[in-house]
Amino acid sequence: MTWQQRITAALDARRAADALRVRTVVENGAGRFLTRDQQRYCNFSSNDYLGLSQHPEVIRAWQQGAEQYGVGSGGSGHVSGYTRAHQALEEHLAGWLGYPRALLFISGFAANQALIAALPGKADRILADRLSHASLLEAASLSPAQLRRFAHNDPAQLAELLDKPCAGQQLVVTEGIFSMDGDSAPLAALASATWQRQGWLLVDDAHGIGITGPEGRGSAACQQVKPDLLVVTFGKGVGVSGAAVLCSDEVADYLLQFARHLIYSTSMPPAQAVALLTAFNLIRGEEGDARRQKLAQHIQQFRRGVKGLPLQVTHSHSAIQPLIVGENGRALHLAQQLRSQGIWVTAIRPPTVPAGTARLRLTLTAAHKAADITTLLEALHAASE
Ligand SMILES: *Cc1c(COP(=O)(O)O)cnc(C)c1O
Repeated sequence: MTWQQRITAALDARRAADALRVRTVVENGAGRFLTRDQQRYCNFSSNDYLGLSQHPEVIRAWQQGAEQYGVGSGGSGHVSGYTRAHQALEEHLAGWLGYPRALLFISGFAANQALIAALPGKADRILADRLSHASLLEAASLSPAQLRRFAHNDPAQLAELLDKPCAGQQLVVTEGIFSMDGDSAPLAALASATWQRQGWLLVDDAHGIGITGPEGRGSAACQQVKPDLLVVTFGKGVGVSGAAVLCSDEVADYLLQFARHLIYSTSMPPAQAVALLTAFNLIRGEEGDARRQKLAQHIQQFRRGVKGLPLQVTHSHSAIQPLIVGENGRALHLAQQLRSQGIWVTAIRPPTVPAGTARLRLTLTAAHKAADITTLLEALHAASE
């Protein structure tokens, strides 16, 4: 096959499976409403769980940061792109989350790729929950280390796999709150199985940071577990963008030598670091508590209301409330019906989720009003009849 034939065949296969991914241009897609083509939809598909992407103080902090530093960092942190704003944010995160060090990355995807590329080598083994995010599984499958996937949230199976002979070190990989299912990992049991066998535990808490635990410190703090490596991302509950790895002093020094995504990539704009620091101060304080409480009320209201519907809900108690519908076509149809009623939801299809588990991935946020949840429930009711 030529390049052209190969690409055409791949696109045709996606189309035939109702799995072709397309982007939608929107005027704004992060807040309570998504606007597109002069139409306003109530937005149940954004990961801006606390509504901080539109917070006036965060916006002002970014503007002030840009006035002070300009709009770009000018280089990698190893050259001239590590400013006081970056340093202040790293120190704030480390202190808040109880780790010696934090290192900023441009995205969660980059942080995961960098960690997994820099740590395990040929003799080692990576054990990943089979529902881990693509950024983790892809990095693990590219790694020279052996990759084994354990059944979702199953510490007993993890322990069995850890007990198989391994010449090198073992790295266990999971998420705090799973991105497509919204359920939490049993971190204490996973950590105990890992540590009994001298492995290290990496937890990606993209969907927990800011949202759960005391002061919003995330899934690990909530479950009183301290993973060896904690990845937090800033594009979801924090409402901005970027990520950090929390770790020991030695691991941080090691990553500064070997994490290629840090060394060969422009650091985040300093103004973004200023905005992030403001967002974290809100998250830790009363405003964060109030927003988390509001989100919790919306989750409760939704779960109570959805019980009577002929739709399969999950055990998720997080902001992510998937409705598993099975076939791709049905998920697309349902999403379309909701759209026609002014409600924006996304159908998530394989390969993002396992085959046969296409779903509507509904996300609830603190920016919604109780009436929005009611409207959503009514529209689901109408659509599922
Ligand atoms: C979204 C997500 C990422 C990627 O983070 P970005 O900052 O958006 O690149 C990584 N891990 C998980 C679990 C995620 O849900």
